[in-house]
Amino acid sequence: MARGAVLVRIGNHPDSVAVDFRFGSSSVTSIMEAEPLPHLPVRPSNHFATARTPQPILAGITLLGSQRVNFFALSEGRSVTLIDCGFRGHWRYLRAWLAETGRSVSDIEAIVLTHGHADHIGFAQDLAALGVPVYLHQADHAFATHPNVVRPPARLWRRLWRPRALSLFAEAVLDGVLTQPPLVAPRLFGDGDVLDVPGQLRVVQVPGHNAGSCALYHPSSGALFSGDALMTLDPMFGTKGAVVFAEDDRNDAEALAGLTALAQHRDALLLPAHGEPWLELGSVGRAIDQAVISTP
Ligand SMILES: [Zn+2]
Repeated sequence: MARGAVLVRIGNHPDSVAVDFRFGSSSVTSIMEAEPLPHLPVRPSNHFATARTPQPILAGITLLGSQRVNFFALSEGRSVTLIDCGFRGHWRYLRAWLAETGRSVSDIEAIVLTHGHADHIGFAQDLAALGVPVYLHQADHAFATHPNVVRPPARLWRRLWRPRALSLFAEAVLDGVLTQPPLVAPRLFGDGDVLDVPGQLRVVQVPGHNAGSCALYHPSSGALFSGDALMTLDPMFGTKGAVVFAEDDRNDAEALAGLTALAQHRDALLLPAHGEPWLELGSVGRAIDQAVISTP
């Protein structure tokens, strides 16, 4: 028999993996199981969340999450960096993607958070407890490690009577926002740092949205993970297009002015934490030019 290789998926079990069988003069019969994926205390579904179909939007970059709250898996071979972690319940989306791609938690080499708000830290501490390092800007350390991190922001709380705001709040609560654990010991970074994680992300701090709000530039794709510094959807009130807002309404103008920090990446593709990605060259520059404060 000629030497060769064939990929075989073993069974339908979600934790089974595609195995590379190499055969020559004698056949190989061993079966390899990936380590099982953990079950976190989250609901299997959420009536208020519309799941995204996992989309490989660029080579090695998959958009996950719900229609209102994005997070991203950035792959280099089997190794993965997560950019943000949605709400805690969004683990079900990541878990499905890991199973689908034959990966396990040990393939996640890093979680990089664009900032410390509750719709970004999600299941990060759950994975940190399993050994995954979590990276965060130093200015958000005190906020993201405090139990109050799960409290709804004042911007949402004051306008909870609005249907869209109430719907987002319901999505958040059913997806465990009130029980998601604060971070314990994140690794801290600063403006301009290049993170030694798959993707070699470069940190650009963007003043305004909150203290530690950052964008992350991915040099090999030319994409900018803009977090909440520059969004294409206001998840609380539904405004579409290039929008900014601050956690404190009084800082909205600062959030708009802070976009000058992104001037060096005007040519980049835009991958925001809320709203659709803009995948044309120059999307960041176009969004900066069009950006408005999303006033509720
Ligand atoms: Zn935010």
